[in-house]
Amino acid sequence: MPRMFDTVKGLGITLSHIFRKADTISYPEQRRPHPPRTRGRHVLHRYENELERCIGCLLCSAACPANAIFIEAAENDSTNPTSPGERYAATYEIDMLRCIFCGLCEQACPTGAVTLEGETELVSFARSSMVYTKEMLLEPRGTATRGSILAWAAPAPAGADTDLHVPDSRGQFDGAWTTAAAVGKANLPVNPSAQRPTGRTEEPQP
Ligand code: SF4
Ligand code: SF4
Repeated sequence: MPRMFDTVKGLGITLSHIFRKADTISYPEQRRPHPPRTRGRHVLHRYENELERCIGCLLCSAACPANAIFIEAAENDSTNPTSPGERYAATYEIDMLRCIFCGLCEQACPTGAVTLEGETELVSFARSSMVYTKEMLLEPRGTATRGSILAWAAPAPAGADTDLHVPDSRGQFDGAWTTAAAVGKANLPVNPSAQRPTGRTEEPQP
């Protein structure tokens, strides 16, 4: 008798789910949108003037716990620079087989040059093709997105003067020379409403 009861109870659960909308989808024909903070394939970003955001500082490589990023920096040609900094990344490679998609490279980057985006279908039949080169990672010319970095940006504290304390919140160089986020952003239009922080009068040392 108890077994009969369990069977009926089980059938009841089955019947109760028959007319519900299925939670599953027919992947890969159907796909769900990824949340904005999904950490998938990396993208290297450009500025609006097509210069590369990456200034070859190697901070992302140093922060990477999986030793997945290889960079060779080179001096910019002052007459035809690749980035607004002194240097740019002549070689930028990420070994996707090493990467654990922790996002530390994105957090370490002072210019918002590298972000992890929503592309998660990273497969290959050859290990060598899982080393993504700069050419594969860099946005095409004419494209200047900021990517998921905006989704990760912490909201300013209530009442904070965002012009002074969250200089990178709008992706615009604000003239605040106290922030590392300004590195490599000098080609962007200066926010006319930005002012120097109070209490600082000296110019920054080069
Ligand atoms: S996401 Fe993490 S593991 Fe992958 S390259 Fe960036 S720092 Fe390295
Ligand atoms: S931290 Fe950013 S600017 Fe520096 S090398 Fe990495 S991607 Fe380029």
